[in-house]
Formats: sequence, C-alpha cells, structure tokens
Amino acid sequence: MSAATRDSCNNSTDPIFENLRGAFVEQFGHERKPSVLARAPGRVNLIGGHTDYNDGFVLPTTVDRAVYVALRPRTDERVRLHSQNFGEEVEYALSKPHVSSLPQWAQYVAGVAEELRTKCGLDAGFEGVLFGNVPLGAGLSSSAALEVAAAEGLTRLFGIDLGAEEMALLCQQVEHTYVGVQCGVMDQMATRLGRAGNVLSLDCRTLDYEHVPLPLSEASIVIADSQVSRELADSKYNERLAECEEGVTFFQQFDDSIKALRDVSSELFEAHASELSETTKRRCRHVITENRRVKKSVQALQAEDLETFGALMSAAHSSIRDDYEVSIPELDHLVATAENTEGVYGARMTGAGFGGCVVCLAANSALEPLQQRLSQQYEDQFGLEPALYVVEENLEVMTLH
Ligand code: ADP
Ligand code: MG
Repeated sequence: MSAATRDSCNNSTDPIFENLRGAFVEQFGHERKPSVLARAPGRVNLIGGHTDYNDGFVLPTTVDRAVYVALRPRTDERVRLHSQNFGEEVEYALSKPHVSSLPQWAQYVAGVAEELRTKCGLDAGFEGVLFGNVPLGAGLSSSAALEVAAAEGLTRLFGIDLGAEEMALLCQQVEHTYVGVQCGVMDQMATRLGRAGNVLSLDCRTLDYEHVPLPLSEASIVIADSQVSRELADSKYNERLAECEEGVTFFQQFDDSIKALRDVSSELFEAHASELSETTKRRCRHVITENRRVKKSVQALQAEDLETFGALMSAAHSSIRDDYEVSIPELDHLVATAENTEGVYGARMTGAGFGGCVVCLAANSALEPLQQRLSQQYEDQFGLEPALYVVEENLEVMTLH
C-alpha cells in the first residue's frame, strides 16, 4: 500500500496524533510545530509459535495500540528526543550517537536514525516526541512498533524511499545491533505491513506474505497478559534453537536439501521419529505440526470457519506446552479458563513463552464472562491480576504531514 493511501485510510482521526502535536509544541516551543507524525501498531501472533526461527510460517495481526512519533527537522546535526512514557529527554550529535550510552528507549530511535544515516543518507538532525500505549515488555512488541514508527517518521521527514520489507529488515537490524536482541523479523513485518481487518500470513524464510481477512463481525481477539516476566525466555530460547538444529542435522542424512525444520515433511518425521532422542523428537514434532496448523488456519479463516481456527489455536497450545515446553502454569491456566468459557473458539499462549500473553478468540457475546472469569480465576489461583485487552481494531501504520 502506498504512503498516500495509508494517509487517507480509516484511522486518520486517531486522537493521539492531536495530543502528540500538543506535546511536541509544549516540549519544543510554539514556533516549532512537528512536520511529520507517524504511528506503528503493536502485534499479536495468532498462531505459529516458535516457527519463525525455523524458517516457518506465522500469522500475526496488529492490535489497537501503537507507538507514535512527532518529528521536525533541524538545520544542524543535533538530535533531541523526548519520551512521554519515560518523562526523559536526550540530546546527541547525529554522526556521533554513542547509542549504547543512551537510555534504552532512545537506543531504538537512535539505532534507526544511525541505520538511515549510514545506509540511506540521512544527514540532518531532528527533534521528536514519542508516546506509546502498547504495553512495554508484555509481548505485544512495543519495541518493533517504536522502531517502525521512528523509521516511518524519519523516512517521511527526510524524503527517504524505503520499501516496507526493507524497512522491516532495517528495524530488525536495529534490535540486533543496537539493543542486542537477536529477534526474527516477524514483529517488524507484522507492524509495518499489518492491514486493518486482516492477519498477515507470513513465510519467515522468503518473507512472502499475504493479507488474510479476519472474519470478526461477531467475534473478537482477547489478549490476557499473565504479568509474569519472561526471565527464562532467553536461555531457553538458545536451548530450543540448539535442539531444533540437532533435528535439522539428523534429518539432513535423509535429504541434504533440508535447511530447517520447515523442510521436514510429516512423512519423513514419522518414518524416523523413533530414532531421535525423546526431547529432540518432541521439539521437532511441535515445529512440524505447528507449520501445518498455520497453513490450515489460513484456510479456515478464508472459509470464515472460526470453529476450526479456534480448535487449531487450542491444539497449538497443547503442542507448545507438551512438546516444546515453553509454557508455564500461569499461561496454561489462562488458556484452560478461556477454553472452558462458553463462546470461546480457542486460546493459546503467544510469544516466546515463560510469561507474556495468552491470545483468545471469542464470540462477542462471550466477552464479558470471559474477561470476568479470566480475572477472577487467575487471581484466585496465582494472586495476580491479568491485564486484559479486547482488540477493537487492527491498526495500520500511518504517517501524517
Ligand atoms: P516488547 O517488544 O515485547 O514490548 P521489549 O523489551 O522488546 O518488549 O521492548 C520494550 C522496550 O521498548 C521498552 O523497555 C522501551 O525501551 C521501548 N519502548 C517501547 N514502547 C515505548 C514507548 N512508547 N516509548 C519509549 N520507549 C518504548
Ligand atoms: Mg520487543
């Protein structure tokens, strides 16, 4: 979708843009109105857990929360950034960013600016105000939203022509290089390319994608944040990576064209699964069956068959819990509570695991009892109140002058 059409899309009345304009003027003075406003939404992955780094398939959609930036160019080399969420301001010279010495929130923006400076010729300073209502660190990818909002805003401000996929890759690079998070590119692709009323069916190997309409006239996506931080996620991630690699090496003896678990067919897996260690077998089985579930999910959505899609989500949770073992009792409890609620099609943990969120698909008539039960039963069991989000719409990236 071109920038021009994006400007005129449905959400141009987003009131947060107006607030941000006001905040910018307050921060930088009345003669300093922002030239460009941009936003990029958070995302939730509906199905396709831990398939991304196995070159597989995912099905993310954007949420109704976003990160926003207001920007204005400067005639000198200075960069000044103010974060409304953190109540902090930083200032540095564009060509000497010393990114690692900046507060973390500024590292994402300075990283984007540095990539654009070295790769796309960005050569003037700027000032900006940032605000976001994507919960931080909850698994809805506020970091990708921040990167993409900054990249959208800065490319527009300086007339830099950068395709959507290139932008997503540049933002992924920022996480790797400047923040030190070795993430896949799903989040940035989902945020940058997400389209209202659709999910993004994404092939993480080729980056081929397709927008698939979400038939949600009478149903909604509900996200429950377990409020458990994902401390274990990093070390377990490396462990899973190694286990998947072991599976790939094993299956290569039968077919040397196999480069990732994505290439292992169900038939080949079934024929040789018993020769694998129990752990490796289960890890491989999750990834191989999950890729199949994502493809079936796309078909179910195309057929507007929420029953089947919900059942696939629930099967995905069982698989990630029992075979991949990255769930925890808190997430399992939220999923079970949702599944036991009348009118819920399905539920699963989403994201890296060991904390973070559960995503549910529920009939609109079930929203109230679902939210009530999720809160009550979780609190009874764990003494924690989950944060609940009913996704009202899937926001798109937007840039305004
Ligand atoms: P997630 O992407 O799952 O939300 P991360 O830890 O990857 O969690 O990213 C969260 C970080 O992104 C925050 O600690 C902060 O540095 C940055 N961030 C996200 N949203 C904002 C925002 N609105 N303003 C400033 N920084 C933000
Ligand atoms: Mg992140």
